[in-house]
Amino acid sequence: MNWISEWALPKIQTWLGRKEVPDNLWHQCPACNQMIFHKDLERSLHVCPHCGHHMRIAASQRIEYTLDEGFQRIELPRAPADPLRFRDQRRYADRLKEAQAKAGMDDAVVVAHGAIDGHRAVVAAFEFGFMGGSMGAGVGEAIVTAAKLAVLQDAPLIVFTASGGARMQEGAVSLMQMPRTVIATQMVKEAGLPFIVVMADPTTGGVTASFAMLGDIHIAEPNALIGFAGARVIEQTVREKLPEGFQRAEYLLEHGILDMVVHRGEMRASLARVISLLRDKRPAEPAEAAEEPAAPPAANA
Ligand SMILES: [Zn+2]
Repeated sequence: MNWISEWALPKIQTWLGRKEVPDNLWHQCPACNQMIFHKDLERSLHVCPHCGHHMRIAASQRIEYTLDEGFQRIELPRAPADPLRFRDQRRYADRLKEAQAKAGMDDAVVVAHGAIDGHRAVVAAFEFGFMGGSMGAGVGEAIVTAAKLAVLQDAPLIVFTASGGARMQEGAVSLMQMPRTVIATQMVKEAGLPFIVVMADPTTGGVTASFAMLGDIHIAEPNALIGFAGARVIEQTVREKLPEGFQRAEYLLEHGILDMVVHRGEMRASLARVISLLRDKRPAEPAEAAEEPAAPPAANA
């Protein structure tokens, strides 16, 4: 231990009455290593202003960036925690508690409803920071709840995915979330409502292998990793060198897996446009045009 930094510096700073400088004012871009001032990073929605790298963001930020002011977060039903009483190096129950405390949420998905540029929508967002956004019973429950809410509100369902796949600590229970989420999103489609998937980095494993590939529209953020198994596993299995950019958003767009790759700054506007194309002003229903009541006269201010 260095006594100067441990003891002397804090003392000097106290004497001088100087406030400690927070060490999180600058962030380093993991792609280009440039330093970015935190306010610039917030302004750019956590996209590097130097190289355009889209950094991973929290589920709550997704919701804020996507929905208009005044949205409401939904309380999610509790799923049975630790159904197998699983233990590896540590108990799953302990890992779960730790993740809950760190992320300030019960499981890896946030659900909210509100509007996107005035279009009603239900949004579910994965939190990659919560055990790698892995899909266990809690996440399955969240997707089912979001789908039911979309049907109830006659609103499109938009899911932002960021997941390492199934939550292995829940064994077969986590695998069951795959058909469960597929059925839930099918419900949305049967109600004639758009189901839009926005894939963020990374979207892999059981999430890719279930509802995430079944959207009406597939959007991804630039350079997002999207796939089922990891590239190294595939390379070892097929014994062939994989093409450059394999499993990246742009490659998948070229090969027809995605419909759009959209910059985070344009995501809200793009979603609003897609929703309006899919929902608004259907010529068969001319009465719909008058659906929105005229704005009431301005309140006496
Ligand atoms: Zn950068």
